[in-house]
Amino acid sequence: MNMDSGYPIIVVGGGAAGMMAACAAAGEGAKVLLLEKNDKLGKKIYITGKGRCNYTNCCETEDFFRHVPCNPRFLYSSIYGFDPRAVMDWFEARGLKSAVERGNRVFPASSHASDVTRTLEKELKHLHVEIRLNCEVRELLREEGTERRVSGVRLGTGEILRAKAVILATGGMSYPSTGSTGDGYRFASSAGHQITELSPSLVPITAAEADIPKMQGLSLKNVRFLVRDGRKILFDDFGEMMFTHFGVTGPLILSASADLQKQIGRKPLSAEIDLKPALSEEKLDQRVIRDFELSSNKVFRNAISGLYPSRMQPVIIDRSGIPAEKAVHDITKAERTELIRVTKHFSLTLTGLRGFQEAVITHGGVSVKEVDPSTMESRILPGLYLAGELLDVDAYTGGFNLQIAWATGHAAGTAAAEKICRN
Ligand SMILES: Cc1cc2nc3c(=O)[nH]c(=O)nc-3n(C[C@H](O)[C@H](O)[C@H](O)COP(=O)(O)OP(=O)(O)OC[C@H]3O[C@@H](n4cnc5c(N)ncnc54)[C@H](O)[C@@H]3O)c2cc1C
Repeated sequence: MNMDSGYPIIVVGGGAAGMMAACAAAGEGAKVLLLEKNDKLGKKIYITGKGRCNYTNCCETEDFFRHVPCNPRFLYSSIYGFDPRAVMDWFEARGLKSAVERGNRVFPASSHASDVTRTLEKELKHLHVEIRLNCEVRELLREEGTERRVSGVRLGTGEILRAKAVILATGGMSYPSTGSTGDGYRFASSAGHQITELSPSLVPITAAEADIPKMQGLSLKNVRFLVRDGRKILFDDFGEMMFTHFGVTGPLILSASADLQKQIGRKPLSAEIDLKPALSEEKLDQRVIRDFELSSNKVFRNAISGLYPSRMQPVIIDRSGIPAEKAVHDITKAERTELIRVTKHFSLTLTGLRGFQEAVITHGGVSVKEVDPSTMESRILPGLYLAGELLDVDAYTGGFNLQIAWATGHAAGTAAAEKICRN
């Protein structure tokens, strides 16, 4: 077996958190080796923000934590230490111009995710970080005995690389084709870390109703989505969603999936879409009456085109129970009331989440109770640092997850380098 003389710091995983950790550590003057199992760095970054990379969210830092449903307190120190403004400044100082869009979402001005990766690659090169691609880490090594600490990694080839500090930034399990196949959970667990239950999050949701696939591809803007468990409201928000062959997706649904982690899949959940949230039932009834008056000689089927998108009309007709060929002037008040009810409370039965293949992030991960929030160092194995999606933290869409990767990576890299330079 091949042994080398050792590196001060090894970073495992060349995604957002790993590249930032390597830059931060090398920026502090440490010699850093970055190991990535893909043939290129930042494979996931290329597909973020639909290829445009929503790389942070420039909301006020205090507001940031409202967008983090899972373990926000753990992030206080790292986010305040490298907040969205600092991230934007960091990229801009290295030549990446940014553009701020609706909801404080920050993108590269070029709209190319590849420019984010390129900026990081340039900085890694500038700081003389040694990079090994096609290099899969198989095992985390440690010294036992009186001074229990991390000692390096073993590669897939069997080669052993010694290090004083190892930063694990191997990501979660979502979109495994990008390289995030959950290896880091195994490494952290072998060091004695607890891994909380893992599940896909920011992910489409399956629905039971047979009429949903008929609307596949139909996108709805400005609707309200409400999910209940009995009388308890589990999710209630407005936004954009889309029907698919299995259920529902889109930004509003992805956010719901994050909030329904504990309940969904265990039993069917009742949900409803308010298709006209800007109108009260009374106002909607007046609008329907007006539309019906203008179409009084038409049949029901031909009188609702102004109210619903075409792909939805047959479903609404079925659900309202009003015969499609009924003359509009014959529609009764009770029938109209039912049409209003179907429109304001379009019901769905949510049966579960789609899988990791389709999830934007992984919910769960290395328990944050065992990680120092200001340095990201393991409280269990000295010299081991953990950053990014591998940790049990996750946020809603909007640039918050990448911000978590930058901030935790930056904290880990800085702290690991400072400790090594001190000793
Ligand atoms: C489709 C999609 C769109 C997204 N859009 C956005 C967005 O616009 N904004 C946003 O904030 N977030 C977005 N996210 C989430 C964001 O991409 C992640 O939260 C972020 O990339 C996590 O960074 P990470 O460095 O922790 O993990 P990753 O980016 O997953 O990087 C981990 C790296 O480690 C490598 N690795 C794993 N195991 C090993 C091993 N054994 N040896 C060597 N290397 C290894 C992997 O190959 C990978 O390159 C999106 C996610 C997806 C899937």
